[in-house]
Amino acid sequence: MIIFGWRVVFFTLTSGVFHCPGCGGDREYRRRQGRNFFTLFFIPVVPLTKTGGEFVECGTCKGRWEPGVLDVPTTAQLAQMPAMLLRMAIAQVLRAGDYTAPSSRSRAVAVVQQAGVAGYDDAALNGDLARPFDEVRIEMNRAAGALAPEARESILRAAAEIALTDGRLSASEEETLSAVGADLQLTRVQVTGVVSMARQASGH
Ligand SMILES: [Zn+2]
Repeated sequence: MIIFGWRVVFFTLTSGVFHCPGCGGDREYRRRQGRNFFTLFFIPVVPLTKTGGEFVECGTCKGRWEPGVLDVPTTAQLAQMPAMLLRMAIAQVLRAGDYTAPSSRSRAVAVVQQAGVAGYDDAALNGDLARPFDEVRIEMNRAAGALAPEARESILRAAAEIALTDGRLSASEEETLSAVGADLQLTRVQVTGVVSMARQASGH
């Protein structure tokens, strides 16, 4: 007698760490998809159709979620986010002015180190300066939503101070600060306020 049938076999597409909405924390996940298999004596032999969509399975509570949950930052990512946004904001502003000026560069490195990135140095700054502009903007926009307005304002303030290190703001530095402010999801009024406070403090 031949016993045949079909069953769903799940494949792991990718894995990593995500914020599980079920058990509420940073957990290991597997991104999986099921596939129907024709079975012979209970052994899957012939792959048939893919079943349904992909899902994300929590390694701890085994809860299953839409892949969209992977867009939510993990707790560890959230903790790094202010420093990460600060690096990107500073790189954008430096690029708008003379990014070879030693005073601006050393100030930028010092500010990022103070924000908690202990190993940040000149080479890391060059790496940030070399990142594609559009990629940075998309990333900033996505990350900014997770931070309080005060945190976003202080990031713009730090970027403005660095732009002011070598004197008055150039037109392109001003433009870039507006763009960075918009990427940080600040209003025009907030941006103007932050930049004018930085101006006053620097005396330029
Ligand atoms: Zn879970």
